[in-house]
Amino acid sequence: TAREGGSGGLLSRLFGRSERTTVVRRELDDAMLEQLEELLIASDMGVDTALRVAANMAEGRMGRRLSTAEIQGLLSSEIARIMDPVAVPLPLYPKKPQVVLVVGVNGSGKTTTIGKLASQFRAAGKSVIIAAGDTFRAAAVEQLEVWGQRAGVPVLKAAEGSDPAALAFDALKKAEAEGADLLMIDTAGRLQNRADLMEELAKIVRVLRKTDPSAPHNTLLVLDATTGQNALSQVETFQKMADVSGLVMTKLDGTAKGGVLVALADRFGLPIHAIGVGEQIDDLAPFDPEDFARALTG
Ligand code: GDP
Repeated sequence: TAREGGSGGLLSRLFGRSERTTVVRRELDDAMLEQLEELLIASDMGVDTALRVAANMAEGRMGRRLSTAEIQGLLSSEIARIMDPVAVPLPLYPKKPQVVLVVGVNGSGKTTTIGKLASQFRAAGKSVIIAAGDTFRAAAVEQLEVWGQRAGVPVLKAAEGSDPAALAFDALKKAEAEGADLLMIDTAGRLQNRADLMEELAKIVRVLRKTDPSAPHNTLLVLDATTGQNALSQVETFQKMADVSGLVMTKLDGTAKGGVLVALADRFGLPIHAIGVGEQIDDLAPFDPEDFARALTG
């Protein structure tokens, strides 16, 4: 599963290995419920969501003797219930070119995710163009070019420090002229100067709309799942700057903190289009609520 190689799910921290392989039943009492609440909170689910998940799970079951497997089953179905509505693949439209704006803080995995997505679109027979919109970071542009080569997709760039909106405009014109299916636009992620970044993103959108009033068709926010609760404030920040339409959660390989996805789903209800599960080009998976809930609680 997505989280293999991680430090194990919630219940493996509550029950020893032997107890997980033999069927031991324990009474669901206040002390046990409290332990479960603490584990859910420790997974970065957020206090409100954790308490609600635990309460729903325990409803009508206090005093019953439950096995580890039963507890896991109950908890994971509560979690899957919250996650089901947000497990939505990135919608692909017949409209050409579909413009996908990609936003997120530096280090969240934007470049990597663009490369992985481009590769998946290519494999699905789509023609893709990438625009290296973080024109101020030469290293970011270089990285994106490497990913473009891996994915077999052209990367458009502009002179260092030039206006990203001008690049976006040219890229859309080119994508239209070439009949490309998708245009993916990388953007800067320096939150140190939010007012600047907000203006930059707004200008990109304004300029795209001169050519296509319905662009961008998707605004993907890339979030690093290992940043825990910080991801929540990043959603709030980027929602103020752009019309975020969906999320990609990266670095879900080997984190025990995946609970933040539950908090995000509960609070914002934004679709999770894909999850990053490694650094390689194929390490982007659809978000599967049941797998996720099992891995989180397991
Ligand atoms: P950007 O600054 O947002 O463009 O971030 P990058 O795409 O450069 O990624 C930052 C670091 O995170 C790089 O070392 C990537 O290899 C790594 N990374 C990105 N996505 C994943 C993922 O899903 N899993 C893991 N383990 N690492 C990732």
